[in-house]
Amino acid sequence: MKQFDYVRPATVTEAVAAAAQPGAVYLAAGTNLLDLMKGGVSRPDRLVDVTHLDGLDQIETLADGSLRIGALVSNADLAHDANFAKSYPAVAEALLSGASAQLRNAATVGGNLLQRTRCAYFYDTASRCNKREAGTGCDARDGENRGHAVLGWSESCIATHPSDFCVPLAALDAVVEIEGRNGRREIALEELHRLPGNTPERESALEPGDLWRWDTNGKSTRLTNANAAKLAGVDMPQVTRFNFKGANGDTVWGIAMRPAGLAPAAKAPAVLLVHGGPQGSFGDSWSFRWNPAVWTGHGYATVSVDFHGSTGYGQGFTDAINKDWGGKPLTDLKNGLKAATDRFDYIDAENVCAAGGSYGGYMMNWIEGNWPDRFKCIVQHDGVFDARAMAYETEELWFDEYEHGGHPYYEAAAEYERWNPVNFVDKWKTPQLVITSEKDFRIPYTQGLAAFTALQRREIPSRLVIFPDENHWVLKPKNSLQWHSEVFGWLDKWTGGAK
Ligand SMILES: Cc1cc2nc3c(=O)[nH]c(=O)nc-3n(C[C@H](O)[C@H](O)[C@H](O)COP(=O)(O)OP(=O)(O)OC[C@H]3O[C@@H](n4cnc5c(N)ncnc54)[C@H](O)[C@@H]3O)c2cc1C
Ligand code: SF4
Repeated sequence: MKQFDYVRPATVTEAVAAAAQPGAVYLAAGTNLLDLMKGGVSRPDRLVDVTHLDGLDQIETLADGSLRIGALVSNADLAHDANFAKSYPAVAEALLSGASAQLRNAATVGGNLLQRTRCAYFYDTASRCNKREAGTGCDARDGENRGHAVLGWSESCIATHPSDFCVPLAALDAVVEIEGRNGRREIALEELHRLPGNTPERESALEPGDLWRWDTNGKSTRLTNANAAKLAGVDMPQVTRFNFKGANGDTVWGIAMRPAGLAPAAKAPAVLLVHGGPQGSFGDSWSFRWNPAVWTGHGYATVSVDFHGSTGYGQGFTDAINKDWGGKPLTDLKNGLKAATDRFDYIDAENVCAAGGSYGGYMMNWIEGNWPDRFKCIVQHDGVFDARAMAYETEELWFDEYEHGGHPYYEAAAEYERWNPVNFVDKWKTPQLVITSEKDFRIPYTQGLAAFTALQRREIPSRLVIFPDENHWVLKPKNSLQWHSEVFGWLDKWTGGAK
């Protein structure tokens, strides 16, 4: 580690003066900063330890009822403060969802707001990173970037800020008080962090030598406005949760989305989206992979169902898919699509396609042979086609064997063959787009080639798209654009597209 000075000032004024020298940074609990220093990512010349400054570890109630929280209050103390937790439960919950109990006990709220990005390339000093070293490039752009920004990114940097705490604070219009060389100033929390633009190395509105603390003012009606300017011209779909009786009479939940621009009495072609995992969920999340809002943006209504095997209902429901891949989940999908088309008039029930990746891709191949008369077309991404070949070629043996009762194929062939799509190819008839990737070792691309051969041999309209540089997921932004263009092209061809 590079050598550095260490100073421990007694007052805020001394701290601001000590931090004024180039290469100086404030040290709070160090849970983020020290890791970065050990890894050679951050190389300060001076550490200004602020942990002993008076008055910054207090939570005060102001005359208007809002709270002023010192930058040195620990994440845990703030979350457990009775007045704070009662007045701002969403912020307390966000704090408690972060890191671990030990870290929350040490970490300060100031350090939380000013922690650095978790972009893996930022932490890896062998990678190019404009944020760590301006002008060197950004290896995340063409790398593993599914945790990176969808909105607000730039050509120079696609990193996000990792604080859970900032999100509700921004929604509550929190204000930051900053002590700097030029005195005290206040800014909205939303303005504290900068978008990367051409200078991702500049992350916040703080000037060198700034020290700060922040207020909350109590409004709790708006969920977030952090990207208000960017989202101003975007119409979001209408999202409705619904439930129905699924397999075994269990209550199963689904989500239907209505395209934003659809005229009041109009109907939209629809897609039944089947999630992967299978122990997963179409939950409240955002991504450029399998994001229903993107599909509604192209004019399609979407229906997704958290079938048996999904998370969110309890372990018993999740485990119910074990040794039953094509059983209860298919019943749930059938009942769920029926419930959605009965309930939502905007869905054109006669003009529906199905799409899914990974386990969802398996389900597409299973639907081909076991629900062959329902869909205008199918989009199948990285799905299992032949369970026997899969048992000998996946890199995730433990998973495949667990799902088939804990046995290798040669000890329990019947378990694998029971739900094996290849055994029903003689029933296949739905046009299918097959997408696979050469670096997919989980459900290797040979499974896609075999499914495509089956389709072609049966003279079923089909198309094969192979990404040579992707793995089980399409992670690169430009490949994602191509993926969506292929998928929407296929849907439009078979449904006639959105009118
Ligand atoms: C394993 C792990 C998991 C984590 N998971 C989560 C998570 O799920 N959600 C989440 O939100 N966070 C998470 N964190 C981040 C954690 O919240 C931060 O590490 C922590 O809040 C930083 O606080 P600190 O007091 O240790 O700051 P430090 O590490 O001391 O400082 C962090 C940065 O803030 C600057 N700074 C600190 N205080 C001030 C101040 N008063 N004025 C100006 N600048 C200041 C420092 O110079 C430094 O750049 C995780 C961290 C770890 C190590
Ligand atoms: S996304 Fe930003 S932080 Fe990550 S490598 Fe690129 S420049 Fe660095």
